[in-house]
Amino acid sequence: MKKLIYEIKEESKKLVEKTDQELQELSAILKKKAEHTDKRIVKWFALVQEISSRTIGLKHFDTQLLGGLLLHQGKIIEMKTGEGKTLVSTLPVSLNALTGKGVHVVTVNEYLAERDHKWMGKVYSKLGLTTGLIKSQSSLNEKQKSYNSDITYVTNSELVFDYLRDSSAYNLKEMVQRPFNFCLIDEIDSVLIDEARTPLILSTNAEAKPETKNKLYLAKAIANLLKRDAHFQLDEKRKDIHLTENGYKELKKRLGKKTLYDPEDPWILDILNALKAKYLFKINKDYIILKNKIVIVDEFTGRIMEDRRWSMGLHESVEIKEKVDIGSSTKTKSSITYQNFFTLYPTLSGMSGTAKTTEKEFKDIYNLEVIVLPTVKPLIRIDLPDYIYQTELAKWKNVLLQSKTCFEKGQPILIGTSTIEKSEFLAEFFKFAKIPYKILNAKPENVTRESEIIAQAGERYAVTIATNMAGRGTDIILGGNPKFRIKQKLREFLLDNTTNIQYSSQMQSDNIEYSAQIWREYSLAMLINDLDNLPYSLDKCKSSLKNLYKNFAKNVYAKWEEENKLVKELGGLFVLGTERHETRRIDNQLQGRAGRQGDPGVSQFFVSLEDDLIKVFGGDNIRKWVEYLIPDKDAPIESNLLTKSLENAQKKVELYNYDLRKNIFQYDDILNVQRKQLFKIRKELLRENIYEQLFLRFSEYAVDDFFAKSLLISNSNVYVIEKEFDNYITYDKNIFLTQERTSKIFLQEKEKINVYKELWISNDLRQAKSNFYQLGFLKSTRAIILLSILDFYWTEHIERMGYIRETISWRSYGQQNPLVEYNTEAFKSFKLMFEQIRSCMLYYFIKNPINYS
Ligand code: ADP
Ligand code: MG
Repeated sequence: MKKLIYEIKEESKKLVEKTDQELQELSAILKKKAEHTDKRIVKWFALVQEISSRTIGLKHFDTQLLGGLLLHQGKIIEMKTGEGKTLVSTLPVSLNALTGKGVHVVTVNEYLAERDHKWMGKVYSKLGLTTGLIKSQSSLNEKQKSYNSDITYVTNSELVFDYLRDSSAYNLKEMVQRPFNFCLIDEIDSVLIDEARTPLILSTNAEAKPETKNKLYLAKAIANLLKRDAHFQLDEKRKDIHLTENGYKELKKRLGKKTLYDPEDPWILDILNALKAKYLFKINKDYIILKNKIVIVDEFTGRIMEDRRWSMGLHESVEIKEKVDIGSSTKTKSSITYQNFFTLYPTLSGMSGTAKTTEKEFKDIYNLEVIVLPTVKPLIRIDLPDYIYQTELAKWKNVLLQSKTCFEKGQPILIGTSTIEKSEFLAEFFKFAKIPYKILNAKPENVTRESEIIAQAGERYAVTIATNMAGRGTDIILGGNPKFRIKQKLREFLLDNTTNIQYSSQMQSDNIEYSAQIWREYSLAMLINDLDNLPYSLDKCKSSLKNLYKNFAKNVYAKWEEENKLVKELGGLFVLGTERHETRRIDNQLQGRAGRQGDPGVSQFFVSLEDDLIKVFGGDNIRKWVEYLIPDKDAPIESNLLTKSLENAQKKVELYNYDLRKNIFQYDDILNVQRKQLFKIRKELLRENIYEQLFLRFSEYAVDDFFAKSLLISNSNVYVIEKEFDNYITYDKNIFLTQERTSKIFLQEKEKINVYKELWISNDLRQAKSNFYQLGFLKSTRAIILLSILDFYWTEHIERMGYIRETISWRSYGQQNPLVEYNTEAFKSFKLMFEQIRSCMLYYFIKNPINYS
């Protein structure tokens, strides 16, 4: 691609001389060409580079051009943190937006979506492309507008939920998305790997019935009586629980039941859920309690996921355990995994600082290739070897000591923890030792300030405790982030009256002048809005605010330069990991916080033999060996052997987790085919007025089915066949079955046509009759009834499959591959669903009193 990059740069040189007007004309010309030929790509990239340089002052580096070319081909690029992935995205995104079919740029949180939309949006608008931003609070109208833009910024979960909501809309006007075209996912590993373990579920709320609640309480009480190992076994690695033969017997005895799988009154799930809630799900690790509700914490990102619930009754079991209100029990209306969702895009691409270690999974499941790009400046971060302590306490003591050392020097330190609980434990420790710190975890009071805390984690004397990857996508700048600082100072100066007075005496008089001018020109709401959007709103601001900003900026930048130099001299940011995570990728993510853009930096992990990773996956051998050899519990061990076994443990977990995700994917894949089919039908129904045809087709199917059945029992007596028909077609058979017609005639194929004809005629008559009362009435009610029937049985099907999925390993007896069995069951259940939809629809439409009146 060297040649292409060379050509882009040559082309770009030609553009420097051109006026803005000329560039815009060029953009319009390029837009008209339909094909993505190399020549056009070169011209377009050159144009984007020039316009970006003019509007936001950033000119793509060579590696960024290379990244753009690769993304356009639908690849994943790995570029380290701070290398400017956001700017890279402008190239492929704008190029693919030229067709007008829409490009989705997916980010992991709303802050980033908003930031990138404002920031890069300026480049797009100069290129003549429209952009939109989807927020969870956006109205239907806003969403439609944003999805109809050339480029749409959206978070992964909102994007998928919109898809699921669209697929259960009752009206075209309620739908927000267009057919998919090109998608770019920022921090792609976070979305496609870390979050891929829980499917996204759109649920309908149903008030929990008292019986259900009683059952849950009973299940909890009984679960409490069961003994570990005797009655059940814990599989901590897989977060799973198995009943033993004895446990199964015990349960049957206690419940007085012959089986726990009785479809009318199943117990197995509730019991297993109660056990899981008790033994495997921990407060402040897997979930937190917020406003008397159980809220899930994502185990990788440490984020809370307020709109999600564990499915299949698990959430309710945890609610019972914690004695909080039981949320309305949910029925899954629709669900999809990220894996299956993102493969809906004709072209998918992504970027991340850490993708290489999961290369295989990207290839196997998404068919995406990972390409690592070099950094612009060489990496000079020092990664120190792990310190391994025998006890957790010794580890924490030393974490404290190291933090203290850094703090006393003024070197900023970022301490990564794996759970909220540990971050808070450490915070207590720091309080006691009188080290000022900032803490960042999934607790909502911290989240709102997330990006700000992270952005200032590079200041001198900053001590920051953060859970995994909190603030992902936010840059840690040594000496603090000047843009945030300016904004903060402006806010204080203009909005905070108390500091205003203090400042006034120090500030130059022209600042006070500008401030007075601002208050003359701005209303408070307008001012807050403009301040919030700084620095991206700068060219749209009134000149008074702009001038004040510039004045503050001068000051802040001058100070920042000094600070930046000082922090560099101190060795840059110190990143301290307090645990090796379940995957090397997350370790890398944490490490990558230091040493951005050629900055100095240090990283080191402090681990202990009591860490979960070693406890669960490392085995006891290492422990014994170490205890035997090294008596001093507080001294760290640096040993290659230990580091190796740590790495092995990580690899084991990675493999486990990969299997788990693959498993989820494989199961969901089976439903995926059906989901696509159903959603397609649904869309067709909404888009075109085909209810009439569908109704007729369904009626014909019913007749066909009956014929097929009657052929099977041919030779047997007429009575049986007639009875069968009666049972099968539950509606009034007189409509198309006259008295003298007997089943003997039925057996003839051509007779079918006659029955069809009668169906058609009777349908027309019914239409005419209904029109007589109110024109178009039947037509419009049919649409709604049909959709609700469809959704009702689809929901039932999904629930049925969920139950089968949870219990499949119990139902299959050894030899059978559960996946194969699941597949068979899924097929059966889907078929049943269609039969039910059909019968129900015929019943409604023929027997419905409205039609008969
Ligand atoms: P990443 O997402 O790769 O971690 P960002 O996109 O957040 O990195 O960019 C990090 C910083 O690098 C930003 O402050 C941005 O202004 C700067 N940057 C990116 N590209 C360039 C460029 N071509 N020239 C100068 N600065 C750049
Ligand atoms: Mg980024």
